[in-house]
Amino acid sequence: MQQARTTQTRMTRQRAVILEELRKLTSHPTADELFTLVRARLPRISLGTVYRNLDFLADTGQILRLEVSGYTKRYDGNLMPHQHVRCTVCGRVADVFPPLPAPSPAGVFVPGFARILSARIEFDGICAECAAKGHGASRGAWEWLPDPQAEQASQFKESWPCLK
Ligand SMILES: [Zn+2]
Ligand SMILES: [Zn+2]
Repeated sequence: MQQARTTQTRMTRQRAVILEELRKLTSHPTADELFTLVRARLPRISLGTVYRNLDFLADTGQILRLEVSGYTKRYDGNLMPHQHVRCTVCGRVADVFPPLPAPSPAGVFVPGFARILSARIEFDGICAECAAKGHGASRGAWEWLPDPQAEQASQFKESWPCLK
């Protein structure tokens, strides 16, 4: 019984430290990044414990879990409504304030789906650090190069006069 209570207390304390560290950050850290920070305060904590607590906090709505296929999961302690921009080179995430109005899902019908609940806006970008390294230099807003897909689209429109 005593043992159980000790374990319980430790869990709560660990969770509180994880939550506190996450809320200090605006960098949307990965579990690994957070583990490094939390370990400075709780040297005996394991990465598995950090993962479990992050899952619990996200599942209970105390933090946000940002998942995009192909990227490592990131966590956000900021529950104010906001949107995110992700660097397409390094995966860094930053907050977008104020959020743009999300498109309405009303009138969206998808075969096999009983209901469409909501739509989300996410931004892709190139962070300043990656831009300084020359990434995305040819795709800056100030000098758009012809995009093969856009060109295909305009050719497609040419061949369909009703789309002009
Ligand atoms: Zn970047
Ligand atoms: Zn955020």
